[in-house]
Amino acid sequence: MSFRATVLTLYPEMFPGHLGQSLAGRALERGDAVIEAVNIRDYATDRHRSVDDTPAGGGAGMVLRPDVLAASIDAVSPAGDPRPRLLMSPRGAPLTQARVRELAAGPGAVIVCGRFEGVDQRVIETRDLEEISIGDYVLSGGEPAALVLLDAVIRVLPGVMGNAQSGTHESFETGLLEHPHYTRPQDFEGREIPQVLISGNHKAIEAWRQAEALELTRRRRPDLLPLAERSGKDQTAK
Ligand code: SAH
Repeated sequence: MSFRATVLTLYPEMFPGHLGQSLAGRALERGDAVIEAVNIRDYATDRHRSVDDTPAGGGAGMVLRPDVLAASIDAVSPAGDPRPRLLMSPRGAPLTQARVRELAAGPGAVIVCGRFEGVDQRVIETRDLEEISIGDYVLSGGEPAALVLLDAVIRVLPGVMGNAQSGTHESFETGLLEHPHYTRPQDFEGREIPQVLISGNHKAIEAWRQAEALELTRRRRPDLLPLAERSGKDQTAK
């Protein structure tokens, strides 16, 4: 069973974009994942094939029309489609590795890419769209956000990553940022690879990696640490 994504967009030519390359590209070739991009404009009904209109209440920009967007959603995701419907949106819940894993375990997703000022609120409500953000900044459209989400999902699909072990230690998978990496040469511009990593002592290596991951997370992303860890840190800081 493959992961099936249907992306609703005004720019279908942006897909599969970078996902046609490398790891994801091979997953798409094998059919482990399918990305289908559908043009919202195909569901416009007026002479000018218009998809947007001015915001009610006034103000700058344009808003995606609810009738056109709803028609496109209904066409690609009729009642009974088990796939969640996502709307890429800066107002959404921040995307997490946990949500990525959940999506990857499911049948796929219908992903709506906003443009202009966004989409009419009534479509979000009647079509049960889950708003997802990829960070606290504003893009000009949802397409790069959809590509980011799909990249994260496809790389964790079964069989996509060459080395099955790779991935389990990574940033966020353990609740921490990942430890630093090193590879040959042993001496790079006078800096040596930490001794423990070439010791062959696997227990010591694991302990070093754990400690480094914890320290890095404390310094850079204390918000990721469980409450107990954080208050422990506050005490040592005083
Ligand atoms: N006026 C809106 C921003 C619209 S940006 C606001 O202030 O909230 C246009 C489109 O880009 C959005 O509809 C959304 O689909 C996409 N987009 C912008 N920033 C995003 C982000 N951080 N995460 C996910 N999608 C985003």
